[in-house]
Amino acid sequence: MNIPPPQCKKWDGIKTVFIKIFDREDLVAKNFNMNMEATRTALESYLNELENTVGISATSKQNLSSFSFQVVFQNRASTEAEINDFGVLDFPIYFEEGLSITSTRMTKSEAESMLLKHRISDNVATFLRKEVGGNFVMERFIGNIYDELLPYFTNDRALGFGVPGGDYSSVSNSFRCRKIAIIFIDKIGVEVEPVILNRIFLNVLKHEIGHMFGLHHEDKTMMVENYDSPDFLANEAYTPNHLSIISDNLIRLTMA
Ligand SMILES: [Zn+2]
Repeated sequence: MNIPPPQCKKWDGIKTVFIKIFDREDLVAKNFNMNMEATRTALESYLNELENTVGISATSKQNLSSFSFQVVFQNRASTEAEINDFGVLDFPIYFEEGLSITSTRMTKSEAESMLLKHRISDNVATFLRKEVGGNFVMERFIGNIYDELLPYFTNDRALGFGVPGGDYSSVSNSFRCRKIAIIFIDKIGVEVEPVILNRIFLNVLKHEIGHMFGLHHEDKTMMVENYDSPDFLANEAYTPNHLSIISDNLIRLTMA
């Protein structure tokens, strides 16, 4: 694909992570008959409390406590100027229609054009941290978004995807400012009991944000690949290993 990378705007020195949700078709209200405020605040509080997660390392705690998180919800599309201006700590998430029965379903080529507009890197890295024989090892996975992720669009079970900004572990990464998540909001509510709808909705957001922060899929956690897995709803928090990766990557984002 070889998209020319834009210059990442220099970090402004403020450690505020912005999760910017765009719901241009008012899909939350239409599909869930609810306003987004409770979910927005729940997500924001969750992220601001990450530093207090039991079992995280002192380094993760210290790194996470140096950041604050803001979740912004808007009933509109992002503008081109806004997209070009996204900085290293901006994480845009788009709510879109994904059900095949609706005529406004986002198509594969529309998704591709969204990725191109956001100048998403061809190759992105996600990370997995595991304990092996008493030592922690970090695995790094490189994937090609355009080849591997876009075909996933035709998978009716996909609830969305989140893409990190290139490879956070690379010293010079001109794609650091370029992340995106697309969530098929209308699919979340299908065949789901209303009482767990909010939990699933929040978990889907956390899962996709996890990918944007650089997390790889991991069984027995919220980052399990398949949302249908019982592991998904059984885990509503990032693990200490996830938080080690997330805090490292957030620090890397502020270094350039
Ligand atoms: Zn995933």
